[in-house]
Amino acid sequence: MRYVSTRGNAPALNFEETMLTGLAPDGGLYVPETVPTLTHDEIARLHLGSYEDAAFTVMQPFVGETFEEDEFREIIAAAYEGFGHVARAPLKQIDDGLWLLELFHGPTLAFKDFAMQLIGQMFQTVLARNGRRITIVGATSGDTGSAAIEAFRGLPNVDVCILYPHGRVSEVQRRQMTTPSEANVHALAIDGTFDDCQRHLKDMFADEAFRGEVGLAAVNSINWARVMAQVVYYFTSAVALGAPDRRVSFCVPTGNFGDIYAGEIARRMGLSIDRLVIATNQNDILDRALRTGEYRTGTVEPSISPSMDIQVSSNFERLLFDAYGRDGNAVAQLMQELRAEGGFAISQGAHEAIAENFASGAVSEAETSSRITATLEESQELVCPHSAVGLEVARDHQDISHPMIALATAHPAKFPDAVETATGIRPPLPNRMADLYHRSERVTRVENDLAAIQGVIREKRAK
Ligand SMILES: *Cc1c(COP(=O)(O)O)cnc(C)c1O
Repeated sequence: MRYVSTRGNAPALNFEETMLTGLAPDGGLYVPETVPTLTHDEIARLHLGSYEDAAFTVMQPFVGETFEEDEFREIIAAAYEGFGHVARAPLKQIDDGLWLLELFHGPTLAFKDFAMQLIGQMFQTVLARNGRRITIVGATSGDTGSAAIEAFRGLPNVDVCILYPHGRVSEVQRRQMTTPSEANVHALAIDGTFDDCQRHLKDMFADEAFRGEVGLAAVNSINWARVMAQVVYYFTSAVALGAPDRRVSFCVPTGNFGDIYAGEIARRMGLSIDRLVIATNQNDILDRALRTGEYRTGTVEPSISPSMDIQVSSNFERLLFDAYGRDGNAVAQLMQELRAEGGFAISQGAHEAIAENFASGAVSEAETSSRITATLEESQELVCPHSAVGLEVARDHQDISHPMIALATAHPAKFPDAVETATGIRPPLPNRMADLYHRSERVTRVENDLAAIQGVIREKRAK
């Protein structure tokens, strides 16, 4: 299996190189040269085994020769053994024709664990084989940092350093980053904003000498391996509701378009999906793009579903690449226009191609909150604000001939304030984490200065 860049001007890579590289050198995102397909029978048989069995069948064609079969099965087993639910991604019916896919049973209580846990194990296997050691550095406004720490904690060939803005993340988020006791985990509280952290991260990657010295690496949301890991639960949930002999629809709360793009890959692999519905909060660039054909950025409005507060949806580029007939030059031009003018018009042909399989909706803050309230009243379920955005849009797109699966992307206890405001109930952490508020914290406070941060990273990884 080879991977090519969406901007058509970078060498094709195998899976291992694609995973370690992340962003293509021409600024594009890697996609598989051809999407593998599963037969009707292969899909039908997925419901006979465990989540891990399905994960192996769905992902094996993408990793190709990078892992031996047994090795890849062990990687998958290690990735998901820390989940708090044996089904890993259980489905729960909450209304006639409407199901919630619970993706929050991983170690940091959000769906990003599905990809990060797998990436941690895959990185470790490849690095040990090549005798390499790397330093993963990330900047976080909350969720991604803890998912990365949980994925890499205790792995012998990796140090993980996460920069977060001091005093500007929630207590749960901070504690998830500062309480792991493994020596390879380093939480750095920067005296600055999230934008400062991101700027320092960019500058570190631009500093070639430093990059080489510490073996700098990133695992951001555009990494192909993250999309691949998320394809699996589209299959397991659809099959549980009668696929491949019944078509199902999905509604996905979306920010960077990574999660829902995994649904598009599942569809192209042969899964009988009727509709993929994009759900956004008030930061509605994707909903506007779908309705009007204009992809135009605005200013980010902070919301109660903060993991979707973004204005540039990086993985959308992968969908555009397909919609433009895999013309990398056309995509490069659009991205150039986006940088220069803050937006672009999607061609009529590409817009129609996208509208064939996707629908969309945007939800206000008040609607999000009242959906949390109504879901508790009608179905006895507490849902997080991101999941509520998905549920609200799902209800507008339900159609009695197909089951609708709404993705629940985080545990309600991860966003306790919004849930308490809507319901009067403060959702408790799952038992296995109930002591989070009593564990001791370990963090290094660093001034808002690149050289100071680099100094701390050098010193930490040397130990
Ligand atoms: C990251 C995140 C999202 C958005 O996912 P994308 O892949 O960026 O579309 C939605 N909900 C939660 C809880 C998240 O952490």
